[in-house]
Amino acid sequence: MTQPMKFERAIVIGGGITGMLAAKVLSTFYHQVLIIEKDERPDSPENRLGTPQAFHPHRMLPLGKQIVERLFPGYTKELLAMGGFNTRHQTSRFITKDGELTFTDKEETAVTRRAMLEWVLMQRMVNEEERVQFLEKHEAISLQFKEGTNQVIGLIVKNRQVKPGSIHEMKADLVIDTSGRMSKLPKWLKDAGLTLPQTDELNVFLGYSTRYYRIPKEAPHMQSMVIVGQPHQKIPTGLFERVDHDLVAVLLSAAGGSHYPTTDADQFDAETAALTHPAIAEAITHLTPYTNPKGFRVPSCVRHHYEQLQDWPSGLLVMGDSLCTLDPIHGQGMTKAALEAQTLDRMLKQAQKKELLSFEKDTLQQMQRVNELGWWLCAIADMAWEGVELKGDTTIPHLKFVQEFLNRYVQYAIVTKQPERLEAYHRMHSFLTEPREIINLEQLHDMIQADDSGETAEWWSQWDQKNDEHNRAFFHEAVPDFRLQHLLSFD
Ligand SMILES: Cc1cc2nc3c(=O)[nH]c(=O)nc-3n(C[C@H](O)[C@H](O)[C@H](O)COP(=O)(O)OP(=O)(O)OC[C@H]3O[C@@H](n4cnc5c(N)ncnc54)[C@H](O)[C@@H]3O)c2cc1C
Repeated sequence: MTQPMKFERAIVIGGGITGMLAAKVLSTFYHQVLIIEKDERPDSPENRLGTPQAFHPHRMLPLGKQIVERLFPGYTKELLAMGGFNTRHQTSRFITKDGELTFTDKEETAVTRRAMLEWVLMQRMVNEEERVQFLEKHEAISLQFKEGTNQVIGLIVKNRQVKPGSIHEMKADLVIDTSGRMSKLPKWLKDAGLTLPQTDELNVFLGYSTRYYRIPKEAPHMQSMVIVGQPHQKIPTGLFERVDHDLVAVLLSAAGGSHYPTTDADQFDAETAALTHPAIAEAITHLTPYTNPKGFRVPSCVRHHYEQLQDWPSGLLVMGDSLCTLDPIHGQGMTKAALEAQTLDRMLKQAQKKELLSFEKDTLQQMQRVNELGWWLCAIADMAWEGVELKGDTTIPHLKFVQEFLNRYVQYAIVTKQPERLEAYHRMHSFLTEPREIINLEQLHDMIQADDSGETAEWWSQWDQKNDEHNRAFFHEAVPDFRLQHLLSFD
């Protein structure tokens, strides 16, 4: 039976990127939307305690930008006006052990600090959305259920504006947890007597180290670049990213836990010089260090399967990093959050028209579909690093094959100088191209033909079933259909 939904008040736990996007969507459906944020609201674009990842570069993928622009028209222009680096017509280098390709960005994108991305959203929200209220220094400490039922009717909140903090209730027709990777939701649900389904965990043991440099006036033109790491030799990936008009972020990252990139200022240049290519080490000789290196460790990425919980409470949803975290090196987290916000919008429209059997469970199922591609891509890329393990019920069929196919595909694009093929690969990592458009028999034949050494043909022989139909079935088994078209439809 369709649940009668009320659209009076919604509460969003957490004022990060997901929280802001969720609140914006909710504001067209609910009379009042409260964002509960445990941190103080900054009065300028500053990093906050609640988002320790914000020091590290945050790149919004084109799809994420498109969705955020739809929710907050003019967002990119605003970021550019505040000093964001405009990637339009800029070239960037993608460097691998087999060579490199240069890309020219056709789109206007503002690369800026994460604090700025959040600040502009927050300003727009509080200035434009009468229905949205931002409650700073308010920490959600548990869910509130209607007695004897499985219905969430609000939250217990600690107001930290007063010392030592006052505890009170806040009623809501819908609560959405967007409190990030440290979300307490699993505990709250267990406290309510629910048994949680098994999570998928990608034990990635990821280490990040980022240092910012200032570009002096006399420095030569600086291009952004990626130097792809070598998992088998435990050589980190290096990223050199223009941020704002006069800064560069240099980021070293490695998975598997056997080596965490240094956070020692003296060692940082040496580790940069030990990447597989000297381009970043050379570029920083023209720059002035602006910060010391700072680290971030991600022991594991977690994907909750709340959609499998038979007795999921009504009046409750979860989005963003609280629902599923991805390996940050792939830069997909904010875009995933934007896709989830778009999904929320679609589901609320259907709920208003009473087209859903159960709004919460149906929405969680749709959110989970949003996460599938990102999870699959992260698992495939990260398990190339020794020491990374995947735990849980979701397995990746023919993992080794897919990993090697993609390595060979990138190598093929680089060696034969076909930037459009590499762009397709990046579009796949940006949720814009189905993996099946890249990983298929036709591409394989092209790769075999282009390889005079015969090595690709020899590699394929271990999988080849000498029958086109069987081979196609094998590819279909190895590469799921993520039904991106449906995911990307806006209505
Ligand atoms: C090192 C690193 C680099 C990254 N780089 C990129 C990148 O380049 N591109 C990209 O797209 N993504 C990147 N990400 C991922 C990205 O940061 C997140 O996926 C994205 O910001 C969405 O986060 P969120 O809003 O769900 O959670 P968060 O950003 O963690 O926000 C959660 C908010 O909830 C608040 N909160 C927590 N608990 C409570 C509570 N009980 N009550 C009230 N408030 C609470 C916190 O203070 C915080 O403000 C990176 C992540 C890391 C770790």
